[in-house]
Amino acid sequence: MPQDTAALPPIGLFDVRAQQALIRPEIDRRIAAVLDSGRFVQGPEVEELEKALADFAGVGHCVGVSSGTDALQIAMMAEGIGRGDAVFLPAFTYTATAEVPLVLGATPVFVDVDPTTFNIDIADLRRRIALVKAEGRLRPRAVVGVDLFGLPADWPAIEAICAEEDMFALDDAAQAFGGALRGRRLGGWGAAAALSFYPTKTLGCYGDGGALLTNDAEKADLYRSLRTHGEGKTRYEVMRTGMNGRLDTIQAAILLCKLPLMENELAARAHVAAGYDAALAGKVQIPAKPEGAESAYGLYSILLADEGQRTRVQEACKARGVPTAVYYPLPLHHQPAYREAHAAAIGQAPPLPVSESLCKRILALPMHPYLDDAQVARVTEAVIAGL
Ligand SMILES: *Cc1c(COP(=O)(O)O)cnc(C)c1O
Repeated sequence: MPQDTAALPPIGLFDVRAQQALIRPEIDRRIAAVLDSGRFVQGPEVEELEKALADFAGVGHCVGVSSGTDALQIAMMAEGIGRGDAVFLPAFTYTATAEVPLVLGATPVFVDVDPTTFNIDIADLRRRIALVKAEGRLRPRAVVGVDLFGLPADWPAIEAICAEEDMFALDDAAQAFGGALRGRRLGGWGAAAALSFYPTKTLGCYGDGGALLTNDAEKADLYRSLRTHGEGKTRYEVMRTGMNGRLDTIQAAILLCKLPLMENELAARAHVAAGYDAALAGKVQIPAKPEGAESAYGLYSILLADEGQRTRVQEACKARGVPTAVYYPLPLHHQPAYREAHAAAIGQAPPLPVSESLCKRILALPMHPYLDDAQVARVTEAVIAGL
């Protein structure tokens, strides 16, 4: 029987409080400074944050925006992506990745994922690009690589394909800020990278927020214009159709307090992951470690043998006060909102067996930088008890 867990401090899947306790006076001070200045929209904190984020990622330019979803949208608007365009993206990801091309009138083409990294499968990507070209109805325009759960996608391969096919390589790094590949942080891979500052991401604010990172100065200017209604040199000159996609000053002020903790928090996440790995390797499939890749561990998901085993592990964890979650229970091509687009994209679309199988077997364990070794042991004991 599970031990009496009522007396133990609860374990969170995420934790936005432990960190806050460390920096609360600084957060209060910076929010108060915004209140005093009255510059709630496009205050100086936004630019200060943009510089700090660009430095952290080692890229030339950062443009703060209102969410990760809007970051993806602004990046695609800047390429003129719309009707008749095919945007290739993994079937196993968060809905926002697929929603944006549809909002712009483009067609998402779902690609299967690799069974160990859970990121876009390069061979399947090539196959689906060839099918779209052979059918000739849609123009292959962009690949959105997602660094799922914090693990960088195969960016050298995605970049090579996009160079060959003259396509836009967009990194959806919403779960992965802080991750790196071959010593280069995410943000520096692909033509642009979208970040989300949703509270539970590796760098989260206290509401919604996001950013675009790029080394292309002209594109950065275009992103700035698009986030402010397509404005030109002056505020009332409208150059193009844009949107209201700015990052709030108060959220930028909060992120400026949190960013200095980031390096230590990434190391703490890696320490938690190493603890899980050591206890669970050989018992369940643990996250892959491709050579040269450093995961940001936005999430830590194990893969069980089948749906029945996952249900048993979920129940064993619940009984022991250990929260778990399923990211994602349905592949995107099975979502009611996307079924029609999926059917319209490729006449005889090959199946997406890996994405379908992962949805039945994946399970996320608690992951945040403030889990201690005793809590990590409690989690792994609960998982093992359910196998
Ligand atoms: C969170 C997330 C987004 C969207 O970010 P928001 O800030 O919530 O709009 C996009 N893509 C992925 C993979 C995400 O996890």
